[in-house]
Amino acid sequence: MNTKKEKVNILLAAFEADPFFKSGGLGDVAGTLPRYVVSDNYDIRVILPKLKQIPDKYTSKMKYLGNFTVPLGWRNQYCGLFELKFAGIIYYFLDNEFYFHRDKAYGEFDDGERIAFFSKAILEAIMHMDGFIPDVLHCNDWHTALTPVFLREQYMQVPGYSNIRTIFTVHNLKFQGMFSDELIGNVLGLSGTPAEDQLKCGDAVNFMQGAIKYSDMLTTVSPSYANEICTEYYGEGMEELFQQRRDNLVGILNGIDYKLYDPMYDKCIKYHYSEKTLANKQKNKLQLQEELGLPVNADIPLYIIISRLTEQKGLDLVDYIMPQLMERELQFVVLGVGDEKYENSFKYHASKNPGKMVALLKFDAALSNRLYASADAILVPSRFEPCGLTQMMAMRYANLPIVRETGGLRDSVAPYNEFTGEGTGFSFANYNAHELLSCIDLSLSVWYDNHKAWVRMQRHAMRKDYSWHSSAKAYRKLYRKLAGK
Ligand code: ADP
Repeated sequence: MNTKKEKVNILLAAFEADPFFKSGGLGDVAGTLPRYVVSDNYDIRVILPKLKQIPDKYTSKMKYLGNFTVPLGWRNQYCGLFELKFAGIIYYFLDNEFYFHRDKAYGEFDDGERIAFFSKAILEAIMHMDGFIPDVLHCNDWHTALTPVFLREQYMQVPGYSNIRTIFTVHNLKFQGMFSDELIGNVLGLSGTPAEDQLKCGDAVNFMQGAIKYSDMLTTVSPSYANEICTEYYGEGMEELFQQRRDNLVGILNGIDYKLYDPMYDKCIKYHYSEKTLANKQKNKLQLQEELGLPVNADIPLYIIISRLTEQKGLDLVDYIMPQLMERELQFVVLGVGDEKYENSFKYHASKNPGKMVALLKFDAALSNRLYASADAILVPSRFEPCGLTQMMAMRYANLPIVRETGGLRDSVAPYNEFTGEGTGFSFANYNAHELLSCIDLSLSVWYDNHKAWVRMQRHAMRKDYSWHSSAKAYRKLYRKLAGK
């Protein structure tokens, strides 16, 4: 019997993808996921805007495929289509210098129009891909949220298009694409259609709302976050819609690149180690302590934060407990940039506690790897966390996460069990500074009073698999199910 499966065609649409351009987690996912999905049975291609920010080394290798016009309200706008084969994946780039050749990728005065152009150009471009018609169009975040709407409202007559199924993935619910409702007629060309009502949110048009209503399937980046966004606390006003679509909403945990983040081979660290050679981890710690002017002592636990310094990350809780934290027997290093109030607070406490705390207020990827490799514990007390990568990176480096039980933190960190000694970190439930402090105290008691349990947890954490392999498997399954193949 021939068990070969039918090939599934997928077009993944995003506004950014590593290594071409990346500003956050979306870029990581769009850059990495396709490389893990692609196989003989899955032809996954990626479509992106040809942004000014893409380095010449990539643009110079792109092949021009042709051009077409994109109808946008009363306008007909030029769009060029380029192709680049890179790391085994076909990437398509949509070119319009007026919309995409800007100094900033996001935050322009006409973002509504630029994004509408991108969302519609994706559908026009499919007609120029040499017969490649996706079974599944995988849209990501608000920049591609209108594509499922345009597909159903304006493109169903195009041969092959009525079979296209859509997935919309929410990476960041904070940005929904809200603009004056004038855009509905003027730019989207949808006034008087059923879409008008579906897109309206009060006096505004809300692009993401369109995707939530029109996509065949909705996903987000962890199972817990999929539950959370159905509640008022996390739903950012979309909770009722998510509740209505609950049967078509799943959470798939993101992964991290296990080749890039590997304590055995990481080029940023001096002493490489595995779960069998954890003593080498200590050498990294001693070196870092010396460099940062901290007492060089392997017995004092080194706690870190590596984060954007924003409210989302639970830094109000950390700020609140700083005086008590500084009374504990530990060292504390913060690597981050962001809101001035948090930067100032960390700077203040570091100046008050020399030899105990260091605030590194910058973005430094190489240093972050050295911190993961040197530290004993990392604080991630987020208010909300769709997936979160720092806790996974930390576990990979035998650095135990102390997290709030929310979103992807809850799905990836197994809390310490005092009775069995099992676990890969420590966690607390409520967004409360005292709970955070008790959780840190629990971790300190394990460090000082039951160090064997600590080392056992380090090994458990290192053995966990948060690579992209398992996420890609879940996406493949979903793609195939939607494609009906
Ligand atoms: P978010 O995407 O919400 O910022 P994640 O945990 O998903 O949070 O990802 C954060 C990523 O950014 C991690 O790879 C982390 O190591 C990195 N990072 C955050 N702040 C810094 C910094 N100041 N220097 C270097 N890397 C940082």
